[in-house]
Amino acid sequence: MNSTMHSGTEFFGHPKALVICFLTEMWERFSYYGMRALLIFYLTQHFLFSDEIAAGIFGSYISLVYITPVIGGIIADRYLGPSKAVVLGALLLVAGHFGMALEGTKAIEQMGATGTEVIRDPFYLQVFYFSLGLIIVGVGFLKGNISTLVGSLYTREDPRRDGAYTLFYMGINLGSFLGAIICGFLLQYKGFSWGFGAAGIGMLAGLIVFIKGRHLFGSAGLPSEPALLKQPTAIGISKEWSIYLLSIGGVIVCWQLMQSPAVVGGLLGTTLVLAVALVIFYSFTKCAPIDRDRMLVCLFLMSYQVIFWSLFEQTASSLSLMTDRNIDRVIFGFEVPAAAFQSVNAFFIITLAPLFNILWLSLAKRGWEPSTPTKFALSIIQLGLGFLVLVYGASVATDPTQVAIIWIVLLYLLHTTGELCISPVGLSMTSRLSVPRVVGMMMGCWFLASAAGNYVSGTIAAMTGSATVGGEVVDPAAALQTYLDVYQSAGLYSIAAGLLALAIVPIIKHYMHDA
Ligand code: GLN
Repeated sequence: MNSTMHSGTEFFGHPKALVICFLTEMWERFSYYGMRALLIFYLTQHFLFSDEIAAGIFGSYISLVYITPVIGGIIADRYLGPSKAVVLGALLLVAGHFGMALEGTKAIEQMGATGTEVIRDPFYLQVFYFSLGLIIVGVGFLKGNISTLVGSLYTREDPRRDGAYTLFYMGINLGSFLGAIICGFLLQYKGFSWGFGAAGIGMLAGLIVFIKGRHLFGSAGLPSEPALLKQPTAIGISKEWSIYLLSIGGVIVCWQLMQSPAVVGGLLGTTLVLAVALVIFYSFTKCAPIDRDRMLVCLFLMSYQVIFWSLFEQTASSLSLMTDRNIDRVIFGFEVPAAAFQSVNAFFIITLAPLFNILWLSLAKRGWEPSTPTKFALSIIQLGLGFLVLVYGASVATDPTQVAIIWIVLLYLLHTTGELCISPVGLSMTSRLSVPRVVGMMMGCWFLASAAGNYVSGTIAAMTGSATVGGEVVDPAAALQTYLDVYQSAGLYSIAAGLLALAIVPIIKHYMHDA
């Protein structure tokens, strides 16, 4: 789609339709991160799951949401077109978030024949899992396709393209920032239903914005072959309605998968093996030598993401519980809710992303801009340093159960600078190193690596678990020590992996052939 087809340059010199992408994705991320900020507490304090089980459910959820965009993208490319896919995704998301707001009664612990038993209302537990299923499929239809719509507003050569994605990334984090703060405070002062309900209202706002502005995308948002959608299928309804029906089938599958985290691990593992095999096969059989090398380098560098997100995503699971239990959150007599800490990363992204853009540009002018593999290595080192800073902070604390707030803020600062060296850089790398014919498949692999990292994050979070009663830890000092042991290892392994990655930069650069 040529940018000249869209009238007006009314948003920082960009087509007006970018505002629609910005706002829709901002509200979607508001609901995603707002709800996610409460999720670990909902699992441990409302349903009274143990830390380990909660971490497993949480890890499965945050990995499935990054597997489904691959499928949502394929369906939009071949049938629905991005615009219908985004509306479908948004409708599922609104339903999912409002479903989460149906709280039911809190689980109770009682002594049974085999020790303490937890009694949960089975109906509301299923409402909860079903709502997660709706959200997972909703994100699958919305996230990738709204990102594709941003690109469709520009020609390949349009110099505004990168700037558009930077603005879009700010929209993501603005939503994330507001979501975590607003839903976090609502949880603290009103309860879960209010927090989850606010996420639903946010997503509803996103849906309305998109429906009102979808005409601005012109043909970019439409299905590539509209006639195909009207064709009848074997069950007597059109292809379009069959897709809607299938998406409900997808929700049912995800609803069940959420109740068996081990199956999600297997599914993810199988998908990963198949995807890697496919990329290697394609590179060796269909690519010229230079393209082949670049594709394989791209695939290799994606694996860094698994390490990155597996530790970074402790934010909403173990770090969140640790913040609740072991961070002194009182500032000037006011207690900051633990869930609200999840907005710190987004705040730093919004404030630091422009500075990083300036930094890379000024380094580039002098010929000093670090290469993509160097930035990735630095990202993993910063991630490790973040954990070590927190461990250091705990070692100088006077109270054996409470760590000062500054150390967790410094951890998030280092994790954010790390994120800025890998996440946006990786998106651009994927589009640059991939053969254009398969850039969609490679982007899918990028998200898949993110999904794998998210899944592993659940396993690591489970290692930090401590004994609880009624959602509260029994021994806060011992709990803190468990967190610190895991975080210290995470920090050291991460730095070691980053140093190794730095050492092999020259080899990787050689195979990138100056791309
Ligand atoms: N924080 C970014 C987003 O929500 C990237 C997340 C990821 O790739 N895992 O879009």
